[in-house]
Amino acid sequence: MSAKIMVAGNWKLHNTVEEAIALAGEIASGLMRDDVDVLVCPGFLALEPVALSLSSSSVLVGGQNLYWQDSGAYTGEVSGPQLKAAGASHVLIAHSERRLYFGESEKTARLRLEAALRAGIKPILCVGETQEEREGGQTEGVLQSQLSGALAGFEAGQLGDLLLAYEPVWAIGTGLTATEEQANQAHAFMRAWLESRFDKTVANSTRILYGGSVKPANAAGLISQPEVDGVLVGGASLSAQSFLGIIQAA
Ligand code: PEP
Repeated sequence: MSAKIMVAGNWKLHNTVEEAIALAGEIASGLMRDDVDVLVCPGFLALEPVALSLSSSSVLVGGQNLYWQDSGAYTGEVSGPQLKAAGASHVLIAHSERRLYFGESEKTARLRLEAALRAGIKPILCVGETQEEREGGQTEGVLQSQLSGALAGFEAGQLGDLLLAYEPVWAIGTGLTATEEQANQAHAFMRAWLESRFDKTVANSTRILYGGSVKPANAAGLISQPEVDGVLVGGASLSAQSFLGIIQAA
C-alpha cells in the first residue's frame, strides 16, 4: 500500500555502545538503496551515539520503548522528549517481548502511543497472536482487540504518523515465519479494521510491517505481498550482512 518500503531492525538487548556504532557504520556504508526507508532501533544507551554516527546517512534511528510521562519522578524510565532529543524518529510500542516480560497491556500501549505522538516520534505499534491463538482460530479477534484497545479514543486526524507491525508471537525469534499468504491476510484484516474504525485515508496511509524470523531468503516474498509495507527484523538485523541482504531483497 505504501509507496516506500521500510526495513526496520530491532537490536533488542544486544551490543555495547561501541558495537552498536560499528554495526550502524557497516549498515550505512553498505547501503546501496535510497528507495527503502531503513531504521535501526538500538538499546537506549546506544541510541544517541548511533544517531550521531549516522547523521550523514539516510539510516533512521528509533527507540524500542518509551514511557508515557514526559518527565518526573519515574526512576528508570525514558520519555518521548528524551528520545526525540537523542535523535529518534520512530519508537516501537508494545513489542510482544514487552507484553510478555513486562506486563504491557492495551492501556499502556495507548498511553505510550499518545506520548510518542506528543513528542513528534512515529510510533510503530506491534500486534500479533500466539501459536495457541492462531490454532484456536482467534487470530483476527486478537488483532482486533489489540488494535482497538491501543487506539481507543484516537481520531483519524491524529494518526498520520502511525505505523503498525504485525508480529505473530510464534514467529518471533523461533525461525518459523508466517507464509506470505498468512502475512498478507493478517495485514489486509488490519487495514480493513483501520478503515472501519477510522477512514480510508488512515487505512491506506498506515504502513504495516511484517515481523517474525525475516531473513534475506524470505524477505522478497513477504515484501512483495500487496498489503506488506516492509519488515521489522530482530535476529537478522544484528549482522550488517544479513540486514543489508534483506534491504537488497526489498
Ligand atoms: C522482532 O523482535 O521484532 C522480531 C521480529 O524478531 P526476529 O526477526 O528475530 O523473529
